[in-house]
Amino acid sequence: MRKPIIAGNWKMHKNNVEAEDFVKSFQPQISDIDNVEVVLCAPFTTLGHLISVTANTNIRIAAQNMHWEDSGAFTGEVAPGMLKSIDCKYVVLGHSERRQYFAETDEAVNKKLKAALKANLTPIACIGEQLEDREQGKTEAVIKQQFEVGFAGLTSEEMAKTVIAYEPVWAIGTGKTATSQQAEEVCAYIRKLIEEGFGSETAQQVRIQYGGSVKSANVKELMEQPNIDGALVGGASLEPDSFAQIVKF
Ligand code: PEP
Repeated sequence: MRKPIIAGNWKMHKNNVEAEDFVKSFQPQISDIDNVEVVLCAPFTTLGHLISVTANTNIRIAAQNMHWEDSGAFTGEVAPGMLKSIDCKYVVLGHSERRQYFAETDEAVNKKLKAALKANLTPIACIGEQLEDREQGKTEAVIKQQFEVGFAGLTSEEMAKTVIAYEPVWAIGTGKTATSQQAEEVCAYIRKLIEEGFGSETAQQVRIQYGGSVKSANVKELMEQPNIDGALVGGASLEPDSFAQIVKF
């Protein structure tokens, strides 16, 4: 049985004061939720403070990116061990905004994924097609490529620990949600790729989130789909009441 995982991706929003205010309002609303893993993906500068204000709660904290090297001359980057050292447990990798604005490739995502797993961080690895891919009937081909390169060389145990976020790029921040049927179709396809590459037992263990304009009005129907095990939520996670409603779908 896969435990659903709902993560709020704050992107480049919230300083320490705003993050703490969010937790003060959000946490009491979801304190009795134990059947969903609740994660907040925050900017590097707020991670330490958020980890301390959410200690002993059911909220987990994720970074939104990291480098694959342990240390070195990589100005502006953060290493996996640095995240571990502040007790950060999750990291988002390969978000489409990183691919789009920072030229992150599937090869880079693969290195980061392996480094995160080696450091005992739970990766939330994002894949998804562009609108033109979908319009040209290339969704499965694009997903296959991202999966085969991005997840290459993982052991079955590592694959099972990885959370995959299926995020159609055309649905991120646009208000256009994929229909639950469109989201389910691709998530089922991703599970088939896992099965082909890592076996059916592993495929049944991997949690696959949907992301792209998730809100309280559509989360329930998405979560009812057999291959959707959670959500990665951007805009609607910035406000505590709205994100609490999503978590309590
Ligand atoms: C995201 O940031 O991953 C995302 C899905 O954003 P939004 O919910 O705003 O579309």
